[in-house]
Amino acid sequence: MSQRFAVIGNPIDHSLSPIIHQYFAKQTQIDLVYEKMSTEASYFKSQVSNFFDDNGKGLNITSPFKQNAYEMAAIHSERCTQARAANTLWLKENQLCADNTDGIGLIRDLTRYVSLSGKRVLIFGAGGATRGIIHPLLEENLADVVIANRSLVNVFEFSKAFVDIKCITMQDIEGDFDIIINATSANLLEEFIAFPALCFSKQPFCYDLSYTQQNQTPFVQYARALGCLAVDGLGMLVEQAAEAFFIWHGIRPSTHQIIDFLRKPSKS
Ligand code: NDP
Repeated sequence: MSQRFAVIGNPIDHSLSPIIHQYFAKQTQIDLVYEKMSTEASYFKSQVSNFFDDNGKGLNITSPFKQNAYEMAAIHSERCTQARAANTLWLKENQLCADNTDGIGLIRDLTRYVSLSGKRVLIFGAGGATRGIIHPLLEENLADVVIANRSLVNVFEFSKAFVDIKCITMQDIEGDFDIIINATSANLLEEFIAFPALCFSKQPFCYDLSYTQQNQTPFVQYARALGCLAVDGLGMLVEQAAEAFFIWHGIRPSTHQIIDFLRKPSKS
């Protein structure tokens, strides 16, 4: 019987994770099914428990449940403990294990375009994704990193959990940056963001964690209109999935072909 995997989040319809994992499975000749699961905050825990009780092998967690997934797990990888947010769950000897592959996924893709050493980086958003990418970014010898968030309440929450990292509100951003990363879920929620235009004045390299198959998210379009080089997070999505695949199956799939495959609609 096929091994069962899934991604859980809300919204979830947009997720490309099933296509990516099934592509990796074909490449590595592993027999699996990979589903999408939608949930609400009050059902998250019970749905995760039911999935593993029903012989599910591995779960990816997406917005906005990464912190809930972290709290549910009994065993955490070091990078998951640093993030206090999980995007990959599995069972080992009946204990729920958690990892966070977002950071490694981002670094593998972002460094295809830009070197990180000595750079000033601004991140919009202080949610689960930012928790996952912040420590791996700090290991890249940056000159500085600033996180800017819309709500003051999440500025406080983030600052409490990551005391050494500068987290401010969007209105308090000062200076210019070499790299700007959009880690908000505004695109996912189909909301408009008033990005402070001043921080784009030196035409930083812009990276959007959100993605479309055409590489044209609203943030990417906004940044390009200001003369910046900008890419979306499709490559990161594939790279974080490859790392989760490695955790579950012990095989590291190659990622270039699936990125090209997923980009195909933009070329036609
Ligand atoms: P969370 O729900 O945990 O956090 C959402 C963040 O977005 C919060 O900081 C929130 O700010 C901010 N936000 C939401 N709407 C707006 C808005 N209209 N204006 C300004 N800020 C806003 O989500 P995640 O951190 O898990 O995910 C963030 C994004 O990253 C998602 O789009 C997700 O798809 C993407 N992602 C992509 C990955 C990839 O592999 N490419 C991997 C992981 C995530 P506030 O505190 O004010 O509510």
